Amino acid sequence: MDTLLPIHVKKDIPENYRDTAIEKLFCYHNMNHPFGSYSKAEMLILMCMDHRKMMQLPDNFAYIIRNSGAKIDGVTFAISFAVAVAKINTIAVIGHSNCRMIDIGRYGVDFVQGLIEQGWKRQKAEMLFLKKHKVFEIKDVIASVINETKKLRSQYSKVQIVPMYYQVEDKNLYLVSEDKL
Ligand SMILES: [Zn+2]
Repeated sequence: MDTLLPIHVKKDIPENYRDTAIEKLFCYHNMNHPFGSYSKAEMLILMCMDHRKMMQLPDNFAYIIRNSGAKIDGVTFAISFAVAVAKINTIAVIGHSNCRMIDIGRYGVDFVQGLIEQGWKRQKAEMLFLKKHKVFEIKDVIASVINETKKLRSQYSKVQIVPMYYQVEDKNLYLVSEDKL
């Protein structure tokens, strides 16, 4: 995928991210740099809740919000808090390979049945799936990450918001290059 920019060494990081929290994120996660010490968070990470990914970061470095498919739906209060109160001015939106939100429609039956087993009424379970699955459904991970990035940029105009991709297979973070689309 040529929309993904691999970052293996520091010089792979584009100029505009030099000496920013984005550079540090790549240094820590992709290059195993020794952890710095932080007394306040440098950035916010919005990523999928998926259990196969875990960021390699020092304590205090980042706020992390995890939501199905790295979507902003349902977490705008948390994002706004990080930006407005914690004065976060950098956000990474991180999609990933093999996200289970891809074609989520295939889980409809299990979703409803599983909630019924938890004591839900069928109608309520079906309504939740019906109402929300389109919001969280992903057809193309890169397109989805860019879409969420654009939504965030329209809400928080002074924050630097960067789309990224986590490859579960190699546990590496990639930059999503927007101009190649
Ligand atoms: Zn996912």
